[in-house]
Amino acid sequence: MKVGFIGLGIMGKPMAKNVLKAGHELIVFDFNKSSIEELVAAGATAAENGKGVAEQADVVITMLPNSPHVKSAIFAENGLAEGLSTGKAIIDMSSISPVASREFAAELEKYKVDFLDAPVSGGEPGAIAGTIAVMVGGKKEVFDKYYDLLMTMAGSVTYVGEVGAGNITKLANQMIVALNIATVSEALTFATKAGVDPELVFEAIKGGLAGSNVMNAKAPMMLDRNFKAGFRVELHIKDLQNALDTSHEINASIPFTSQAMEILQAIKIDGYEKEDHSAIAKYFEKLNNITIQSNK
Ligand code: NAD
Repeated sequence: MKVGFIGLGIMGKPMAKNVLKAGHELIVFDFNKSSIEELVAAGATAAENGKGVAEQADVVITMLPNSPHVKSAIFAENGLAEGLSTGKAIIDMSSISPVASREFAAELEKYKVDFLDAPVSGGEPGAIAGTIAVMVGGKKEVFDKYYDLLMTMAGSVTYVGEVGAGNITKLANQMIVALNIATVSEALTFATKAGVDPELVFEAIKGGLAGSNVMNAKAPMMLDRNFKAGFRVELHIKDLQNALDTSHEINASIPFTSQAMEILQAIKIDGYEKEDHSAIAKYFEKLNNITIQSNK
């Protein structure tokens, strides 16, 4: 299959490499020239712009920061829409607003181009290992057509409903992750302040009911004082903003998420927006005037 790939960042680069490794022809574009060069060295072809990618590929994957970037990659001058033709497809694997996904799908129907929203979970390590979890919205027959392609990058690919459902699922994921990191941070700050070694607390509870993938990934980062992204604070703010906007639009109420949003916002004010979202710990440390550190 001729696969186009736009957005070769922390996630897109290793995902694109996995598509190549599976034997597909790959045509790539990003604003970042060094990322393009790295993919060309691995066997991909570079295109001048999105239009060039869409002309050459049967299906184009996008992995971009947020809705405006995806909109611009598709519909701006020299974007994908100018090179697309009947029967081709866009699979947007970015985490964006589900409302925007539905708008893009409706607009692309005019071009007779299929659209799936297929955001991912699993972070950079999952993208490198090809074990990310993909949650997909769109027409079931389109999902079936591209299932094998998605599996070249993933450990699981799950159909969750009509277009937009992929991003609703991803927002639910991001709400759980933000609040889980916040609670781990609060609890480890509390234990430290009480004079109990937070590393021992983590070791003692990780196998019990409080244990989680989030705790296993993020508690060691807090203990090692390693806040290198990973998943940037600014991207999590973007996701929770999309969750709050969507929630208000559908007349739902998500109070814990608004609390997590304000914590992330405070972290951003302190200058940590480019750090990993495990830096949420710093909010609780500042409140309590203490650092989560092991005595071991
Ligand atoms: P990133 O900022 O590292 O990469 C984005 C890339 O898109 C950059 O290389 C940028 O140059 C490129 N780009 C932006 N606009 C473009 C355009 N119009 N045309 C071409 N290229 C363009 O971001 P990331 O961490 O790879 O995240 C991408 C998406 O995946 C986001 O929606 C994020 O929320 C989601 N996500 C990230 C992680 C993670 O751990 N980093 C995990 C799961 C999901």
